[in-house]
Amino acid sequence: MTPLESLLRSTIESADEGILVLDHQGHIVLQNRRVAEMWNVPPELSQTSDARALIHHAVQQLADPDGFLARARTFDRLAATPTHDTLDLKDGRIYERRSIPYRVEGAIAGRVWKFRDITAEREAQRALERSEKRYRMLFERNLAGVYICTSDGLITECNPAFARMLGAETPSAIIGDRISKYHVAPAERLELTKMFGPGSAIPAIELGLRRLNGSELRVLESVARVEIDGAMLFQSTVVDINDLKRAEEQIRFHAYHDVLTCLPNQQLFRDRVRVGIAHASRNQKNAAVLIIDLDHFKKVNDTLGHTMGDEALVLLAERLSGVLRKGDTLARPGGDEFHLLIADLDSMADVERIARKLLHIVAKPLRLGDREVFLTASIGVALFPADGLDDETLMKSADNALFEAKQMGRNTYSVSSLELNRKTSERFIIENHLRSAIDHGQFEVHYQPVVNARDHTVIAFEALARWQHHERGLLLPVEFIRIAEETGLIVPLGELVLRRACSDAAAWQKNGLQNVRVAVNISQKQLQRSDFAGLVEQVLRETELPAEMLELEITESVAAEDPEATIAVLRKLRDAGIRLSIDDMGTGYSSLAYLKHFPVTTVKVDKSFVSSVTTDRSDAAIVAAVIGVAHSLEMEVIAEGVETDEQAAFLHQQRCNFLQGFRFGEPMKIDEWLAATVTPVQQAR
Ligand code: C2E
Ligand code: MG
Ligand code: MG
Repeated sequence: MTPLESLLRSTIESADEGILVLDHQGHIVLQNRRVAEMWNVPPELSQTSDARALIHHAVQQLADPDGFLARARTFDRLAATPTHDTLDLKDGRIYERRSIPYRVEGAIAGRVWKFRDITAEREAQRALERSEKRYRMLFERNLAGVYICTSDGLITECNPAFARMLGAETPSAIIGDRISKYHVAPAERLELTKMFGPGSAIPAIELGLRRLNGSELRVLESVARVEIDGAMLFQSTVVDINDLKRAEEQIRFHAYHDVLTCLPNQQLFRDRVRVGIAHASRNQKNAAVLIIDLDHFKKVNDTLGHTMGDEALVLLAERLSGVLRKGDTLARPGGDEFHLLIADLDSMADVERIARKLLHIVAKPLRLGDREVFLTASIGVALFPADGLDDETLMKSADNALFEAKQMGRNTYSVSSLELNRKTSERFIIENHLRSAIDHGQFEVHYQPVVNARDHTVIAFEALARWQHHERGLLLPVEFIRIAEETGLIVPLGELVLRRACSDAAAWQKNGLQNVRVAVNISQKQLQRSDFAGLVEQVLRETELPAEMLELEITESVAAEDPEATIAVLRKLRDAGIRLSIDDMGTGYSSLAYLKHFPVTTVKVDKSFVSSVTTDRSDAAIVAAVIGVAHSLEMEVIAEGVETDEQAAFLHQQRCNFLQGFRFGEPMKIDEWLAATVTPVQQAR
C-alpha cells in the first residue's frame, strides 16, 4: 500500500457511514467495516467481491424487499446524477442511502454508495413534530390565554383565548401591541420578568388586566422564558380568575356576614369584640357591648308574614347602622337581635345616650308595604372592663342586662354593672315605670288658674301633669318630663293629658265656667309626630270642646328647633282656631322679633323673671320690655309664678294681660276647683 492508499483507507474506515464502491460489472471495488456492521454481514460474506451476494443479504433485511428490487431494476447505472433515498429496515432502523458515480479516465466506471443510520435523528425529528403539533393544539385550543412577547413587552403571538379575555375578536387585534397596555399595573409584570434567572420559569402570580373596553379582570399569570430561533422570548399563560375571585369573596363574605342584612354575623362580631377589648385595655378606655332585642317581633312575622318581617329587619339594620361611629360594629347574629360593639367609650353617659338613641330610632314608625308598623326594642348593655374582661363574659352580662330590661316592661335599656345601684335610683324607677304608669292610669292632670291682670278673674286653667306613684306618692313634672321626652314616652303621656284636659274643659264649660280656656303643654316630640294637628282636631271633636277654648303651650326652645316644620304645624293649629303660646319666655335665647315668625297668640314670661320684678331692677326692665315688644307684635302676655300682690301690681301696671301663680292658686284637681266656689277665684265673665 502506498502512503496515499494507506491514508485513503484509514479515512474511509474512520467514517461514520458505510461506504461501498461497486463497478459496473457488479464487483465490489471497496467497502469499509461500517458496511459490514450496518448490514450484519457474516464473516464468510465480508471477503467476497461479488456484490450480488452482499446485496441479496442486505435486501433480506429491508422492510419492503420487493419494492426495493423493483426500484433497483429500473435504476440507470450509468446515470451521472447522484441519488438520495432512505431504506426502512425490518427492525425499524432507517438508513439514508446516497450514491454518486465515479469515473475512470473520464468515463463512469461505477458508483460509490454511502449508508448512514438516521434512526435516532428521525426519531428525534418525529418527536419534535409531535411535540410541535401538541404545542400548537395547546396554544390554539387552550382555555387559558397564552401569549408570547419579546423582552421589551411586544406581543408576537397569542392564542384566541387570550384575545377573548381582553375582549378582542381575534389574536391579530392584540399581536403587535405592547403588553403593558393591558396590565393594570405594568410595573407588576416588569417586576415579574426581572425575577428570572437564566432559563427559569416563575410560579403564577395574581395580576390585573384591563380589557379593551376598560373593564378589569383578575388573572393568574405564569411566565416562562423560552428561546425561539435564537431570540429570548417570554411565554405567559394567563388564567381568568375573576369568577373564582368573586366566588371566593362571596364565600368569605357570607362566612362572616348575615345573608339578610349583610351585617357582620356572630363570628365576626365576636372577633371584633376581642379586638375591641384588646384595643380598649391598651388605651385604658372603656368599651360596651349592647344586645338589642326587638320586642314582640314575632307578631310582625305572624301578622304580616315573614317577607315583611325580613323587610323590617333590613330597614332597622339600615337605621341602626346610621347612628354608628367609625369604630363601632353592628351585627346581626340572627333572629330579631342586633349586637353592637361600641369601642373607645369615654363615659358611661355616652352609652346611655346611645342606648336611648337606639330605642328612639327603633320606635320610629316603619313603613312596610302600605302599612305603618311600630316596633320597640329592649337593650342589654355590658361594659368593659366592669362587666367582664373577655368577650364571653361580656356577652353573658349583656344578656343578663337584656333580661332585666325585658323585666322592666321592655322598650327600655338596662346596664349590667349599674343594675344594683340603679335599682334604687330615682331615675331608674321613673324611667322604667313610666310606661306602665301611663297604661295603668297613674297620671292625673292638675289645673292652675290663669287670671286677668286687671280684675283677677279666671280666664283659663293650665293643665299640669302629676304622677300618682304607688310607692313614692305624688311626683311633679320636674321628676319625669325630661325622661319622658328622652324615651319618647312623652308622646302617649302628652296625648293622655291633652284628652283629659279637653274633656275636663268641655265639662267645666257646662258647669258654669263658660269661656274659661284650658292650656296644655306640648313637647317638641309631639309636634314632630306626623299628624299632630290632626290628633288635636280629633280630640276636640271627640270631647266637643270649641277650638278657641284650647291653648297649646310650647317652649321657646321648641320654636327654635327645626323652625320651618314647626311653623307649618303651628299654622295648621292656628288655622283651626286653637290659641298658641310661647312658654317660659326668656329662658331660651330667642328674641321676640324672631318669634314673630310663629303664629302665636300669647307669650308667657318665665317665673324666674317674675319672682324678682319687685327686687331686681334689670329683671323689671326685661319684663317691661318683653311686654312692650309682645304687644307691638300683637301678642298677649301672661306672667308666670306670681306669688305676691306687689308682683301682680307691678305687672298690671306694665300692662301685662294675664297672671298665673300661687298668689291666685296652686295646681289642683278640677273637682277641687269646681267645688271651691268659695275660693278667691271668681267666675270669669
Ligand atoms: P310650665 O308650663 O311653665 O308650668 C308652670 C309651672 O310653674 C308648674 O310647675 C307650676 O306648678 C309652677 N308654678 C305655678 N305658679 C308658681 C308660683 O307662683 N311659684 C312657683 N315657684 N312655681 C309656680 P309644674 O307643674 O311642676 O310643671 C313644671 C313644668 O313641667 C311645666 O312648666 C311644663 O313645662 C312641664 N309640664 C307639666 N305638665 C306637662 C305636660 O302635660 N306636658 C308637657 N309637655 N310638659 C308638662
Ligand atoms: Mg306651661
Ligand atoms: Mg312656664
